[in-house]
Formats: sequence, C-alpha cells, structure tokens
Amino acid sequence: TKLSHIRNFSIVAHIDHGKSTLADRLIQACGAIEARDMKEQMLDSMDIERERGITIKAQTVRLEYKAKDGKTYQLNLMDTPGHVDFAYEVSRSLAACEGSLLVVDASQGVEAQTLANVYHALDAGHEVVPVLNKIDLPAAEPERVKQQIEDVIGLDTSDAVMISAKTGIGIGDVLEALVNRLPCPEGDVDAPLQALLVDSWYDPYLGVIILVRIKNGVLKKGQKIRMMATEAAYQVDSCGYFTPKLVQTTELRPGEMGFFTAAIKAVADTKVGDTVTDDRKPADTPLPGFKPSVPVVWCGLFPIDAADYEDLRDSLAKLRLNDASFQYEPETSAALGFGFRCGFLGLLHLEIIQERLEREFNLDLITTAPSVVYRVHKTNGEMEELHNPADMPDPARIDHMEEPWIKATIMVPDEYLGPVLTLCTERRGQQIDLTYAGSRAMAVYKLPLNEVVFDFYDRLKSISRGYASFDYEVDSYAQSDLVKVSILVNAEPVDALSFVVHRANAESRGRGICTRLKELIPRQMFQIAIQAAIGGRIVARESISALRKDVTAKCYGGDASRKRKLLDKQKEGKKRMRQFGKVEIPQSAFLAALKMG
Ligand code: GDP
Ligand code: MG
Repeated sequence: TKLSHIRNFSIVAHIDHGKSTLADRLIQACGAIEARDMKEQMLDSMDIERERGITIKAQTVRLEYKAKDGKTYQLNLMDTPGHVDFAYEVSRSLAACEGSLLVVDASQGVEAQTLANVYHALDAGHEVVPVLNKIDLPAAEPERVKQQIEDVIGLDTSDAVMISAKTGIGIGDVLEALVNRLPCPEGDVDAPLQALLVDSWYDPYLGVIILVRIKNGVLKKGQKIRMMATEAAYQVDSCGYFTPKLVQTTELRPGEMGFFTAAIKAVADTKVGDTVTDDRKPADTPLPGFKPSVPVVWCGLFPIDAADYEDLRDSLAKLRLNDASFQYEPETSAALGFGFRCGFLGLLHLEIIQERLEREFNLDLITTAPSVVYRVHKTNGEMEELHNPADMPDPARIDHMEEPWIKATIMVPDEYLGPVLTLCTERRGQQIDLTYAGSRAMAVYKLPLNEVVFDFYDRLKSISRGYASFDYEVDSYAQSDLVKVSILVNAEPVDALSFVVHRANAESRGRGICTRLKELIPRQMFQIAIQAAIGGRIVARESISALRKDVTAKCYGGDASRKRKLLDKQKEGKKRMRQFGKVEIPQSAFLAALKMG
C-alpha cells in the first residue's frame, strides 16, 4: 500500500470510557469480521483481561476502509495497554503510530488516565482527535466535557467527534476523521530495514510472534534479520498481519504494521522498543528511545504446600515465556521455606500474575508484602539494590539509602479534595500543583513509591467514594531515612513479614501490623507475643491469650452436620496457614502486613 493510503492510530482513554467497544465497532464497520464471529471485546485476548476490562498486551488490527473520497485506505489500529503499570509499553505502541483517538466518556469527563495517556500521545508527536463517547446516556454532557478537554488538556474540540460506541452512532465520522485528519506515515523503502519492535508474545503453535512497525526498508519472508539491542540474528519464517485473523504475506513495507516469526525460543530474547534490522545490510543507528522496562515492585511468592514448589517453578517459567517484563529468582525464607522473589512493573501487574498462577495453574500461594527497590550505599563505597527487606545489610555498614519517588496525578470532585490532600500528606507527599477544571480538582504530587504500594489506591478509592482517579510515573531516587522493621512472633523473627519504612512512620506502622496480627492469628493453646522491632529495640507489642475451648463446644450434641461444617471450615482455613515454631499464621496475616493503620 502507498504511504498516502495508510493511517496508523491508537485509541487512548481512561479505563471504562469505551476504548475496547469503539475498537470492536471500527473492526465491524470495516467488515473485517462477520458479526457472528464478533466476540465482545475482540482485542482483549486473555480471560483475566476480559474480566477486568483491561488490556495488557498490545495488539494490532489491519482494517480496509473505503472512504468517502472513493479511495481505499489501510487503517492499522494499535491497541495499547490501558494501565499505568504498562506505561513503557504504552509509549512504545504510540511510537508506532502517527495519531490517536482520545476517547472521553461524555457522562464522566476527563480522568487521571485520560491525561496521562493523552500526554503520552502528544509526546509521541501524535495528531489527537477528541472523541466524546456514550452520548446515548441521559447523563451525557458533551458540551461541558468538550470545554473541560479544552481547559485541562488544551486541545481544540471544535471538531470533536460525538459517538456512542454502544449503539454505533458516529462511527462513520470517526473513520472519516482518521483518513482526513491524521497524517500518513513516512518512510524510505530503499533504506536499510528499521522496524520498531512493539510487542511479542508466545503462541503455542507459532512460537514467539513479534509485532513490528516498519519505518524504513522492507521485511521479507526468508530474510536474515538482527535485533539491534540484543544483537541476536534470526531468519524470518513467516510474516503477515491481523484482521484480527492472522493473514500471511510475503513482505511488510514502510508505514505498515504486522508480525513476523523466526525460530525464537522465548519473548525474553525480544525487547519491546528494540530495532529490527537486516543482518546483511544493517541500519547505521537504531530507532530512538529504547529502554528496557524494569520491575519496580518485588515480593515473595511461596507455595502454601511445599510439595507445589516445582509446579510453581514451571508455572513461573511459562508465564515468563509470555511476559518479558516479569522477573523471578529463587528465594528461601526461614518462615515460608522455598519460593521465588518476583519483580513486577507495578501492583496491578503483581495482582494479575498472582491471579493467573492461582487460577490457571491451580496453585495456592502466600504473597509477602510488596517492596520497592531501594538503593543501599554502603560505608565501603559500594551500592546495592535491595529487592527484599530480609536482605538489608547491618545498619552499621550502611552510609545512606535512597528510595524511588513517583509523580502522581489525582483527579477528584471538589467535595472529596480535603481527605485526598490529607492522605497524600500522611504518605509524605509533596504537592507540585493543584488546579481546578469545573467542579473537579487535579492534584499533582511527588510521593515515595513505598507509601503507594501498600494500600494507597484502596484508601484513595474509599475516601472519594470511588470518584478519584489516579495515575503515576516513576520519577527519581532520593535519599531517605529508612529503617527495617522486624516482626517477631513469640520472639522469633518472621522474615517474610519484615518491611522497610521511613523512620518517622516505623513505630505507627509496626504498631498497626501488631494490632492486625492480633486479630488475624487464631488463638492457640498457649499465649502468643507479637512484637515489632527496629534493630534490637521493640517499638510495639501485642499478645494473644491462650485458647481454652474447643470451637465446636457451643454446638450441642444433636447438630452433627453443623459441627462437621465448622470443622471443615477450620480445615479449609488450615490450608492457608503456615507453621512458625509452634504458632500457625494464616495467609490473611501476611496480607495484613500490606495494609496500614
Ligand atoms: P475500556 O475500558 O475503555 O476498554 O471500556 P469498554 O469498551 O470496556 O467499555 C466500558 C463499559 O462502557 C462497558 O460496559 C461498555 O459496554 C460501556 N460502553 C462503551 N461505550 C458505550 C456507549 O457509547 N454507551 C454506553 N451507554 N455504554 C458504553
Ligand atoms: Mg478495554
């Protein structure tokens, strides 16, 4: 296809504003797929994604559109991951396109991820077409939301497209806007191959599939190619595109998006953002902006039943096949036995992996408190990255420590602003900006990431009755007065419950955990002491008195079925317990370490 007849675009939106519904509608309108084949939310391929309504892996679809000018265009729709944890993948997907549709729910207005995503799109040099969705809803206020987009983002909305992705109103206007308002791609077909690696995933039949955007040159079946960052060379086995069905072709040309396969074993060998070039006639320079994504949140994953260890190891290896941003290494805990220390792009990423392990691989796991990556500068001049609080060196050997900070954007209706600002202050936040757009406030804060990985998001939702939206990007490292708090159960430290925290919050956090553990650890036949300590100094303590009665004692003789139920329930609970010396600690107690007082 001629460059002038290609349009590459993505859709950016806050979650639930209708990105997937619009994508489905566009696919349908271009006749790429029969209505009866149309499953809801075509582009969200994994089950968990569909259930949660989020998109994890970027996918692309090539559509053929006959425009009102009589010409047929190739439209490449690139679906981007919707969540902040995947910001790097979002920016790489956007680098593969020339324009974006900015979808805003006309009954909700601009939200935090609307802003974050539209700024990514503007940074990528995109032409942005505002699209107001859900105009079928009685609560839709398109005029007010248009004004808000102008005020907050500074985009001209006089040509905004009004649609209902649900009923199909305005879909034709969206297609015409794509053709008439987005620039066509540029590229030189005679130059050495430069293709941006946008995504890769493991397919059980085809092996690793690599999604690329061709910038210059031609990618052909049979060609020997080279990845510029990893320097690995492969022969192209097949290439093609998705409609969303897989279609094979013999070559991909400048401006086009598509996939290729080669004998690549694991996605770990392919890096999102890398440049693919011709091995025999390589490009002089890679495309700009490559940086591998690094895990920022780490936690331990341990099988509840030690016999599941090998299953867990195999399952992690399988997940890793498909997710190069997820990392893991073996870990041994005195408390929890053999498991793995795992690194994630953020909390949502952690939750998704944990859920897939439990659901798809049928594993019962204990997750330890997530920790961010600290930089420990030791007195001998060395710097160490700390992924696990249990590995913190002796304070005498530490010169100083640094922790990662984020820049967070929070949008919230006026009436909830007070508590939101208080929450940010409690979490050591520094206000950067506070502005208003209509009755909504936008607060920009710098916050230490370790104050956010606990329960910040849940707290924010609850104090704003679900109306606040939140987005962040990792900012920089800064020196901080950090200490390790150990939790002792009957004088034995439980390594999996220890955590690193700012000195100012250490005591209250330690006390909070002791109180919670007191509620969560069932009474046993003897008294249990729970303590929080910084080094040798006990900063909080609680005790659980000994149990006297049998749980079934209060069920009188006759009610055998009730008695059995109670015992079964107790057995069920046991599965989720770990033994510490003589003390049994339930999984919920480990999770409690994540929640703050
Ligand atoms: P995404 O998170 O941006 O991908 O949003 P979805 O496409 O999954 O849509 C979120 C919800 O909004 C779903 O329940 C959709 O059915 C609904 N939705 C999407 N577009 C419209 C629309 O135009 N009108 C109405 N009433 N609902 C819509
Ligand atoms: Mg979606």
